Amino acid sequence: MVKCWICQNEANSKEHIIKKSDITRVFGKGPYKGDTEIVHEKNGKYQKLQGPDSKKIKYSPSLCHECNTGFTQPFDRAYDKFIDYVYQNESDILRKRFIDFSDVYGDDFEEGQCALYRYLAKSFGCRLVDAGQVVPDDIITLLRQTPFKTRLRLTLAVQEDILLMSHEDQKGFIGKGDLNLWADKEDPSIFNGYTWSEHVSWFFFNYWYIQDPDGASGSTWHANSQFVYLGVISVLNEEKRNELISNAHKKV
Ligand SMILES: [Zn+2]
Repeated sequence: MVKCWICQNEANSKEHIIKKSDITRVFGKGPYKGDTEIVHEKNGKYQKLQGPDSKKIKYSPSLCHECNTGFTQPFDRAYDKFIDYVYQNESDILRKRFIDFSDVYGDDFEEGQCALYRYLAKSFGCRLVDAGQVVPDDIITLLRQTPFKTRLRLTLAVQEDILLMSHEDQKGFIGKGDLNLWADKEDPSIFNGYTWSEHVSWFFFNYWYIQDPDGASGSTWHANSQFVYLGVISVLNEEKRNELISNAHKKV
């Protein structure tokens, strides 16, 4: 029996790899055909997506139904509210380069940002299980504890290369990066650190578990402050950037 990594009951519920609401926000409810055809890339393989519930974008079951839908529903809602805010305030955020959680969640921002953080911890846990890793205890307990202690740190960043794409292409750029495993600093025979990222358009969530966050990728956050300053990610060299700029212009 595969156990739910949150409560240890039988895992019978598949979590979306790419959140359903992230897809429907951009592409609608589907089915996706013709002009609205969507292609999903995993490990270099491209597959057509028929709709936002496609099993191609779900993990194998690692949660029970109650944990995946009931218990974690407030976390999912806080995430959706956050992404809605990012899409609706894109130009403002890109100009200011920080997030004030009271702008996102109002007076309840402490509860809101905590729920957002828990959603991201859930997402991270599901990714670890998918990669055959054991979810560390502090990731499980932080879902229920207030206040919580954890070794998971997040940085939020603007992916500058994505901003060079056409606005239409930017919106459809939703996905997750590779999970990287790191050796312990004191005992290199133990691998207990992880880095990972996921993104919705140009907005990147960077995960650092027992790894020092790269300061360039944003201020370090673990639901502990009202303000979070966005870092910058750019992987393309100048030639590639120019190529993207001229392609984007051609489309206009
Ligand atoms: Zn459960």
